[in-house]
Amino acid sequence: MHNKTIKELSTLLHAKQVSATELTRHYLDRIAASGHNAFLDVNEELSLAQARAADERLAAGLAGPLTGIPIAHKDIFVTRGWRSTAASKMLGNYVSPFDATVVGKFADAGMVTLGKLNCDEFAMGSSNENSAFGAVRNPWDALAVPGGSSGGSAAAVAARLAPAATGTDTGGSIRQPAAFCGITGIKPTYGRVSRFGMIAFASSLDQGGPMARTAEDCALLLNEMAGFDERDSTSLTVEQGNVREDFARDLHQPLTGLRIGVPKEYFGEGLAADVEQAVRAALDEFVKLGATLVEISLPKTALSIPVYYIIAPAEASSNLSRFDGVRYGYRAPEYTDLQDMYKKTRAQGFGKEVQRRIMVGTYVLCHGYYDAYYVQAQKIRRLIADDFQAAFRDKCDVIMGPVAPTVAWDLGAKADDPVANYLADIFTLSTSLAGLPGMSIPVGFGQGEKNAKRPVGLQIIGNYFAEAKLLNIAHQYQQVTDWHQRAPDGV
Ligand code: GLN
Repeated sequence: MHNKTIKELSTLLHAKQVSATELTRHYLDRIAASGHNAFLDVNEELSLAQARAADERLAAGLAGPLTGIPIAHKDIFVTRGWRSTAASKMLGNYVSPFDATVVGKFADAGMVTLGKLNCDEFAMGSSNENSAFGAVRNPWDALAVPGGSSGGSAAAVAARLAPAATGTDTGGSIRQPAAFCGITGIKPTYGRVSRFGMIAFASSLDQGGPMARTAEDCALLLNEMAGFDERDSTSLTVEQGNVREDFARDLHQPLTGLRIGVPKEYFGEGLAADVEQAVRAALDEFVKLGATLVEISLPKTALSIPVYYIIAPAEASSNLSRFDGVRYGYRAPEYTDLQDMYKKTRAQGFGKEVQRRIMVGTYVLCHGYYDAYYVQAQKIRRLIADDFQAAFRDKCDVIMGPVAPTVAWDLGAKADDPVANYLADIFTLSTSLAGLPGMSIPVGFGQGEKNAKRPVGLQIIGNYFAEAKLLNIAHQYQQVTDWHQRAPDGV
């Protein structure tokens, strides 16, 4: 049952061959028996109540394509009924009085919430090791990180603890864990998916998206997830006259004539040979499907690291100022006065990486450094976006390359080296800075004794609003390959 896609499960539910309650029970049992530390909160009673409601809708003939399908949410989305912690001690016992827009939309579609998923604290990280509630294990190899920050989401889908999960991507946090766990994930164009109720990290970059095993499933999920939200001031209004975009509409288009831009900067020094081989083999597969490869240049790629690690901490330092021991969550038990209460609360409530970012962010925003760092970074951010526009205008329809320079690394390997973590984001940050949609699909495994079971992801980047095209491209690849069907041992 748990190896079926959402599409297949939906058919079974509508044919009454399985009930939402049975399906939910099945996944809850798998979650209870799992050892990946992917879930931070489950509430079986509530999940089963949602499942019963879905069964009633199915029986009444009022069901949509996602009714009765279980989903789990990254613990960055706030939820009624499940704790919403952002994987931080600061929000360890926080229960939100409302649902994030995305959570509400999926509930309205009749999906069943299985629980909340572990992640890096406030979505800051690339390995899920920054969670206040412990690291997540990669289902393919218990010694490897699952990637981050949506590591719990990727691990849950890969281990078949949920057929679908939500993720958020600020600089790669959907794409990179999807790659490390061998699943499919898409970060939509900035503004496509509402940020209302998504605990803020860097608001000009944060974007929610679906994670599942196939591109087709991601399309079905995005159909519910995307759309204008008046409660999000940067929500986009592309839909005309309230007609919802169907992201599955182009899945079956042939790829003949597709021009794939291959950035030379994504294949230089630092890219592991085994990742390069799997990515190049995938590119060859696209040529067989009728596409042509064009070499392109994205000359500012290397600058995306300093630019992102100025802008994201700057926004984080501002966003996280609300966690002061007064308004939300944790408060230090002992203090002398108000200042002391703020200091102790924030020193005890935030983890190391979060504190580091707040300090960097405060520094680059302060008088005297603002022009030298923050304003410069904003200017280069524009130039990075311009490079993509030049490529799409003159050379190619989409861009492909690796998601990350290596396969998943060992747990602990970079835990004390923040810069090593930041450098591993090199291929995903510029897409986020430009606000472009990007996805990751599984295209093989690493090599050698250690890496042979660690998945490799291919990144597909499109121009603004090109999600349906990206999903079409990924779906066509998944029709002729079976990487997306592989399962970790014992699953
Ligand atoms: N790894 C990046 C960071 O640590 C991206 C995280 C994300 O996309 N949320 O900021």
